[in-house]
Amino acid sequence: MDNKLIRKIPNMNTLLEREEFRGMDRERVKRLARAYLDGLRENVTAGKISEVPDAAACARGVLELMEREDREGIRGVINATGIVLHTNLGRAPLGETLYKAVERVYSGYSSLEYDVESGERGSRCAQVEKLICEMSGAEAAMAVNNNAAAVFLALSELAKGKKVAISRGELVEIGGSFRIPEIMAQSGAELMEVGCTNKTRLSDYEAALDGGAELLLKVHTSNYRIVGFSASVTAKELAELAHGRGVPLIYDMGSCFAVDPGLFGINGGHTAREGIDSGADVICFSGDKLTGSAQAGIIAGRREYISRMKKNPLARVVRADKLTVSALEQTLKLCRYPDTARKNVPVLSMLARTSEELKRQAEELAEKISAAAPGWSVDICPTSDEAGGGSLPATEFPGWAVCIEPKGMTLTEFERLMRLSPTPIVLRLHDSRALISPRTLMRGDGEEIAARIGELYGISC
Ligand SMILES: *Cc1c(COP(=O)(O)O)cnc(C)c1O
Repeated sequence: MDNKLIRKIPNMNTLLEREEFRGMDRERVKRLARAYLDGLRENVTAGKISEVPDAAACARGVLELMEREDREGIRGVINATGIVLHTNLGRAPLGETLYKAVERVYSGYSSLEYDVESGERGSRCAQVEKLICEMSGAEAAMAVNNNAAAVFLALSELAKGKKVAISRGELVEIGGSFRIPEIMAQSGAELMEVGCTNKTRLSDYEAALDGGAELLLKVHTSNYRIVGFSASVTAKELAELAHGRGVPLIYDMGSCFAVDPGLFGINGGHTAREGIDSGADVICFSGDKLTGSAQAGIIAGRREYISRMKKNPLARVVRADKLTVSALEQTLKLCRYPDTARKNVPVLSMLARTSEELKRQAEELAEKISAAAPGWSVDICPTSDEAGGGSLPATEFPGWAVCIEPKGMTLTEFERLMRLSPTPIVLRLHDSRALISPRTLMRGDGEEIAARIGELYGISC
């Protein structure tokens, strides 16, 4: 060990007093300076460096650590998984058209609660509520922060202290932190389980009503399906039963299309209109699942119930922010015109892509990648893509992917290096190949992927 060199390392106080760090949080500077100096000392001890940087260079080193720390956090990523509503990747992407429409609202002042015509105070949600009513045929509507909040608000207002009947087959858990029995307990409602996990009949609900149930709840089994010897009661049958007994039906639909998905050749999934048409008194669903908009909870139904929910103090607690309201408005406006929606709402365009289209896109992308990594095996293969986000667990989306077998690095190393790209690229591994699915790529992603693979190819040779 070179003691003379060690002694040349600037001390902590010298660093802390430097102009570069003026006005910065002292504890943070200390923490990073310590990390930097410790690293330096280690390198000197290990004989890795023969000259110690001066105080100015050390300060630059600390600033670099700061910049690295500042880059941590949420970043844009490239989703090459073919899973459209990828829960870990932020669910629905807004796309350029919707983003541009909300950008002005978010970057400056907006007419959020201002009526431009009269110059007086306006309602932040009047327009979005009108649009939700229009898309669903409901009498009244409201938007809250997310669907968990929507369910919680509906139960808190309409079911507090009451017995609520729900099928044992519908006691769902979504993403770990949303579990129907727990939400219900928290809302003050009393859970009355009816039927069995695989089979629930109308007579089970009748018995529950005889036993004092004052509300029926139907929950969409978003992320699983009960197959085989099974039976469940439709929303329509439940609504008829509920209304015959003078109690309301709440239907947590989880995820709804804002336009008829059949128009785009998508089969499976519900529209909000189907929920209202079934006769449910209140429906709710997420804004950032098949609706393809911002994170939100959308509630629609009978005016009497919605008005009560709006007056509940919880409504303020779970209210949607201006970005949400504005994005939701713009999405639902685009959805008035199916062709425009298909073009501009990414979730719709991604799900509507046909297998032939995807095959062509995979071929084009494979060509670019082959050119960037000529020594690697690059091919295309059929895939089974997914809607994801617990929205259409039973619907298949046949697609195509570029499949890559890198050489000079392992598959897991390749996957990791793609993930650590300046814009992280998330892909699937299957059958010892890496798959890149064009279905979920946004504009420009293909070029970025090819360029990054070119870099990695260069490293591997
Ligand atoms: C997704 C989902 C929720 C939760 O919605 P968030 O918008 O994530 O809060 C609740 N219920 C059902 C049936 C769902 O599918």
